[in-house]
Amino acid sequence: MSEKPDSATLAPDFGAVTFITERLIVSTTERQAKIRIVLVNTAHPGNIGGAARAMKNMGLAELYLVQPREYPAPRAVWRAAGARDVLANATVVDSVDEAIAGCGLVVGTSARERRIPWPLIDPRECGARIWQEAETHDVALLFGREDRGLTNDELQKCHYHVHIPSNPDYSSLNLATAVQVLSYEVRMASLTDAEGNLPSLQEWDQPPVPADDLENFHVHLAETMADLGFYDPENPKQLLTRMRRLFNRQRMDKMEVSILRGLLSSVQRIINK
Ligand code: SAH
Repeated sequence: MSEKPDSATLAPDFGAVTFITERLIVSTTERQAKIRIVLVNTAHPGNIGGAARAMKNMGLAELYLVQPREYPAPRAVWRAAGARDVLANATVVDSVDEAIAGCGLVVGTSARERRIPWPLIDPRECGARIWQEAETHDVALLFGREDRGLTNDELQKCHYHVHIPSNPDYSSLNLATAVQVLSYEVRMASLTDAEGNLPSLQEWDQPPVPADDLENFHVHLAETMADLGFYDPENPKQLLTRMRRLFNRQRMDKMEVSILRGLLSSVQRIINK
């Protein structure tokens, strides 16, 4: 890309509110520390090392590994080359929920179209959005398994999906290569920002709901709908998916979710009296 990125294309209008609370002057390093690259259930340790290297080249350092199949492993260290520090500081966790806990924005990557459409952004918008939101809160970018990507459940925890517009006849990139492309876009957004050409997001009075509180809300919602007899856990169809999509699309803030939780508790008290 020889041309300077156009800030208008880097500031897409998502039609939803955006969240910046307590605007503080944060350094580039502090912002980078808020960006988590999450690799889910990676099979090949070489890809973990390759991802670590790709991240460090682009100035990112927070690597989360959800149940890596073979790790630690010498092959990961070889492939990481000069990014061994990123590997050494990687956080290994048991679930995606643990990896995204505390994050106000979660983006999932997908090598192909899924059955239920989800708010989709392109890699450039993804880089801009991640960089903009990391001004005030933690954000996570999820990468799936080499053989089958992210599961539907994992993708449904995301606010947006991002697809690298590859050749439709051969759309799936190597995992570490996909990390490289998307980390590069975050890098480009950070450079555009340093030039003063990346707009900041609108200020908001409340922080976005963190992923763990959002998950608890969805569990509570499903439970209340079951108590009401509105939802049959034996015959779930697509109801819960649609509810997740509806609420994830709203980018709810922390206060809004706590009000809704209170409402659900009141409903449950009346039903279960
Ligand atoms: N057969 C799998 C491919 C997984 S590729 C599938 O169909 O889902 C492994 C991971 O690399 C994906 O989960 C995603 O995180 C990333 N990836 C590969 N190609 C990508 C693309 N074109 N766009 C976005 N992410 C991609």
